[in-house]
Amino acid sequence: MTQTITVIRGDGIGPEIMDATLHVLDAMQLGLQYEQADAGLAALEKHGELIPQATMDSIRKNRIALKSPLTTPVGEGFRSINVELRKRFDLYANVRPAKSFPNTKSRFPGGVDLITVRENTEGAYIGEGQELSADGETALLTQKVTRRGSERIVRYAFELARKTGRKKVTVVHKANILKSTSGLFLKTARAVAEEYPDIQCDEMIVDACCMKLVMYPESFDIIVTTNLFGDIISDLCAGLVGGLGLAPGANIGSEAAIFEAVHGTAPDIAGQGKANPCALLLGAAQMLDHLGLPDKATALREAIIATLEAQDSLTPDLGGTGDTMSFARAIASRI
Ligand code: NAD
Repeated sequence: MTQTITVIRGDGIGPEIMDATLHVLDAMQLGLQYEQADAGLAALEKHGELIPQATMDSIRKNRIALKSPLTTPVGEGFRSINVELRKRFDLYANVRPAKSFPNTKSRFPGGVDLITVRENTEGAYIGEGQELSADGETALLTQKVTRRGSERIVRYAFELARKTGRKKVTVVHKANILKSTSGLFLKTARAVAEEYPDIQCDEMIVDACCMKLVMYPESFDIIVTTNLFGDIISDLCAGLVGGLGLAPGANIGSEAAIFEAVHGTAPDIAGQGKANPCALLLGAAQMLDHLGLPDKATALREAIIATLEAQDSLTPDLGGTGDTMSFARAIASRI
């Protein structure tokens, strides 16, 4: 196989975790070609813009990108680069697995293995209708939910369940209060669910879902929900399995798919070799699934698990004395 992917090394710890990730992918001899592209602060310094046209062209051409975290400068009128990428490529599905791994700081050392599928383009995050009255006393926000947007995200969740052999999809909503927006999402989800009689579907109000996630996280399989709820729930789930160091995310659309670590640029540890590369590596595993290489994705995940079990060269956030690259070498040696 020869597949070219766009590689964005990003800011802060981004270049370190990307080097580590590419080291492991190279060891797997997948025949991947990398096209380096700039974004974030690195791009602003080099090209005078946060997302140069060449980067957009590269993603559009290759349709697959592996991306390290990016810094969006604060308070200088810049829009979030990640939101911009989602908009430009209509990356409507944000897919965030949360799985218990050995030897991590998790309150649930075993049993959590769920995926949050979050609608990524609608809801409260459309950036429209945000107003503060002239006297600063009243703020307004517009939310948008469409049948088309709801249908495609719920369908994505059910198709993912079928593809990965998962048994249940939980539709999370607040239709009892947000009758129009959440109501439309729920109604649409019910109609889609009927097309998948082989997959169990249940419904849960978002607040009850949060409580149940903390008490019985092992009872969940796939969660599908709207943008704001999905944003919060997916971080809650990352917390269940020991934090952001092991949380990957995929942003999937019809034109492109971007795979990443959920955490940020970690400026406090940048350049020190302390960054845990696992989240981006797990993002790369999602990319291999997406490329139709599930066996390779599984091999990568198993090598990560074996390295964690052996506590071989782990980074300081996992209580180890290794560094980013020694951790990556330990993983690569187990593939
Ligand atoms: P952060 O995730 O960068 O850091 C939070 C804490 O987690 C820090 O203590 C950091 O050291 C630690 N941490 C994060 N990743 C780690 C890793 N791989 N290994 C070990 N420790 C790790 O969150 P923040 O400090 O709120 O954000 C910093 C910057 O990142 C901001 O500029 C923000 O805009 C950006 N950001 C980018 C993305 C993205 O591009 N996807 C996502 C979130 C934040």
